[in-house]
Amino acid sequence: MSRICMIGTGYVGLVSGACLADFGHEVWCVDINEQRIADLHAGKMPIYEPGLDRLVAKGVDNDRLFFTTSLAEAMERTDTIFIAVQTPMSDSGEADLTYVVKVAEEIGRLMKKPYVIVTKSTVPVGTSRKVKQAVSAAQPKPIPFDMASNPEFLREGSSIEDFMRPDRVVIGTESENAEKVMREIYRPLYLLETPIVHGSIESAELIKYASNAFLAVKISYINEISQLADRVGADVSLVARAMGLDKRIGPKFLHAGLGFGGSCLPKDTNAIVHIAGEAGGDMSIVRAAIAVNAALPDVAMDKAREMLPDLKGRTVALLGLSFKPNTDDIRDAPARPLVRLLQEAGAELRVHDPVAMDNFRGIHPELMYCDGPYHAIEGTDLTMLLTEWNEYRQLDLPRIAGLMAGRRFLDCRNVYNGEMMAEHDIDYRSFGRPGGGSST
Ligand code: NAD
Repeated sequence: MSRICMIGTGYVGLVSGACLADFGHEVWCVDINEQRIADLHAGKMPIYEPGLDRLVAKGVDNDRLFFTTSLAEAMERTDTIFIAVQTPMSDSGEADLTYVVKVAEEIGRLMKKPYVIVTKSTVPVGTSRKVKQAVSAAQPKPIPFDMASNPEFLREGSSIEDFMRPDRVVIGTESENAEKVMREIYRPLYLLETPIVHGSIESAELIKYASNAFLAVKISYINEISQLADRVGADVSLVARAMGLDKRIGPKFLHAGLGFGGSCLPKDTNAIVHIAGEAGGDMSIVRAAIAVNAALPDVAMDKAREMLPDLKGRTVALLGLSFKPNTDDIRDAPARPLVRLLQEAGAELRVHDPVAMDNFRGIHPELMYCDGPYHAIEGTDLTMLLTEWNEYRQLDLPRIAGLMAGRRFLDCRNVYNGEMMAEHDIDYRSFGRPGGGSST
């Protein structure tokens, strides 16, 4: 059993902490957000993640998972420290390391024995060295410690399964001790024959950005193909399906629509462009992917105007506010620029999301928040599906046709098809499917 201090109880820290406790380790989760820790003590989850409440309760009941606001207490009881705090995008596009460096200084200040310090946050190449320097500089007296990098690849919405059954675990170390400690922590995954990719700290740090940037490029690629399909009269769903059947390409991340959002791909693509620039290189492919993605809300607005040329005073329903289904995360969600553009065009908005409305209300209190998709659609001139929640995949079409003031449905995630909508006299548009796609 390892004794682990997990700093940060957000999407990554809390899920990683709960999963590591389930592996049999003793985990102390620390957060400066007192409300978060109080909620966790009360069994209330600070984020929406399917299955997380049960896993946390199990760890707590088994005396393996603990929560505290005191880093000193957590460090006293553990010997490996994971840093899982946020690394948001700064105004210039690079990763903001303020939170990571602050944690490093605190660790140094409180250090009374050796530790392995692991960066789990997504951090630019070279950050672990910066963390090392910050820890050393803050130590009241020199105590040796080891650094490791262990980037996280979990996806919000399926993060427990992703952590428990990862495609691979990436570990970067600079000492035998750190490697031994990290391999021991992930030993439960050996039974599943999970590949452990071990290398230098720099390689581990770059693997995370290289992977996320590649996924972003794949998404932007299919979105550019989607726009071409719209122009030449092809069906992007069919194109993507046939492309994905080619084993060299694979079917994942080939869904045309509103593009990527959330707390990772937008900031990580910008960060790798910066990392390359600082190293005297360029990531022109990633820059192009960012530009394609940034233009997608305008593409959606063009489609909305094709259906309803003047949006002023018209009522528009938005279904889905989170950046993808099964999460309440609205960071860099496409709904945000779309709300702004629709408001600028003078539209009145009625919105719904199964779990993200509270978060969205924090930035847009003025919107009409509805009890469900049917309530949102009631009396609207245009309905836009922004997030492909299961709840929106099987809408009762005769019912929505009856509720709409104007029978217009802009499907920004290609969930439905023109044939089904035509049966109910609904004007239907989607992305990259000029004919509206078919049911086959
Ligand atoms: P988050 O914002 O959800 O959580 C960060 C937490 O750290 C917050 O609760 C905050 O209060 C806490 N924190 C900040 N400073 C602290 C301090 N000094 N002491 C203790 N706690 C502190 O962030 P997240 O989404 O979990 O992301 C964390 C990191 O993991 C980021 O680098 C991100 O890029 C990376 N990552 C995120 C995901 C994802 O899907 N969210 C996936 C893989 C990697």
